[in-house]
Amino acid sequence: MKKALVCGAGGFIGGHLVKRLKAEGFWVRGVDLKENEYGNNMCDEFILGDLREPSVARKVVEGIEEVYQLAADMGGAGYIFTGEHDAGVMHNSALCNLNVLDAAEQAGVKKIFYSSSACMYPEYNQLDPDNPKCSEDSAYPAAPDSEYGWEKLFSERLYFAYQRNTGIDVKVARFHNIFGPQGTWTGGKEKAPAAMCRKVAEAEEGSSIEVWGDGKQTRSFLYIDDCVEAVRRLMESDFSGPVNIGSEEMISINDFARMAIDISGKKLSIKNIPGPTGVRGRNSDNKLIREKLGWEPQKTLRQGMELTFKWIHANVQKAAQEVS
Ligand code: NAD
Repeated sequence: MKKALVCGAGGFIGGHLVKRLKAEGFWVRGVDLKENEYGNNMCDEFILGDLREPSVARKVVEGIEEVYQLAADMGGAGYIFTGEHDAGVMHNSALCNLNVLDAAEQAGVKKIFYSSSACMYPEYNQLDPDNPKCSEDSAYPAAPDSEYGWEKLFSERLYFAYQRNTGIDVKVARFHNIFGPQGTWTGGKEKAPAAMCRKVAEAEEGSSIEVWGDGKQTRSFLYIDDCVEAVRRLMESDFSGPVNIGSEEMISINDFARMAIDISGKKLSIKNIPGPTGVRGRNSDNKLIREKLGWEPQKTLRQGMELTFKWIHANVQKAAQEVS
C-alpha cells in the first residue's frame, strides 16, 4: 500500500484529495492546524500540528512515499487582497514550504506536489477583463498583485531548486479558483463562489445581494473533483510543471452572481459596492495541461455551482435553525 502525506488535510482541497487517495487505495496521513470542519476527514492517521515547526514537518514525513503540500495561510479576496494579513500570509506559508520540502528531501520522500496559485501571474497581463493572459510561460518578468502571489512564486522556485540540487521529484500546479461543497463558506476566508452562494441563500426574496467591485471583472472557476483528478494525473506523470489547473470558462463577476441567483430560483438584484477585487481579468490557459496530461474539466461552471449552492443553502438553513 502506497503511503501519502497530505499537508493541509483539514482544508477544502486537502479534504477532497484525501478522499480521492483513499478511493485509490492509498494509506493516508493528514496534518493540519485544525480538523476539517465539515467532517471530510478520511485520513488513516490525522495529526494536529503546525508545519511552521521544523520538528512537526520531520515527524509527519516519516515512512511516506509521496507528499501533497497544500498547507497555506489562505483565504478569498477579503483575506488576501486587503493587505491586512500580508506579513502572516508570507511568513506562515513560506515556513510551511521550507520545512515540509526540506524534511521530505531528508527523509527520502520520492515525490512532492506543491499547490501554487494563479495569483503568481503578473498583474500587467490581467488588466483587460476580456483578454487576460495566464499561460505558464507568461510568469516573468514577475509582478503579482498580492503578497500571497509573491510567496507562491518564491515557493515554486524553492521546489524547483530542490529538484535540481537534490533530485527529489517535484510537481507544481497553479490552481485557478477551485470551488465546491465542503469548503469555507463563511467567516471571512471564503472565496467568491462560496460567498456568492451564501449571500444568495441568505437573501430575502425581492432584496439585493452585494457584489464587490463594478462586477465587470472576470474569472474562471474549477470544480473540486476536476481539480483532484488533475492533481493525481500530474503526480502520476513524468511532467513536473508548473502547470495551470483551472477552467477556461471565463465569466464576469456580475454574470456569476446572476447564475447563483438563477440557481436559487429567487428574485434578487445585484448591488455593486467597493471592495477588494484583485486583478481585472483572469482565465486559465489549459493548452499545456491538455498537451501533457490530456486533462479537461468534466463539469461546467453551472453544474458545479448547482452542487455548491445546494450544499451552502443547506448549511445556511442549519445555521439559521441553530440561532432560532
Ligand atoms: P484551505 O485554507 O481550506 O486549506 C489550507 C489548509 O492549510 C487549512 O486547513 C489550514 O489550517 C492549513 N494550514 C495553514 N497553515 C498551517 C500550518 N502552519 N500548519 C499546518 N496546516 C496549516 O485552502 P484550500 O482552498 O484547500 O487551498 C489549498 C492549497 O491550494 C493552498 O496552498 C492554496 O494556497 C492553494 N490554492 C487554492 C486555490 C483555491 O481556489 N481554493 C487557488 C489557488 C491556490
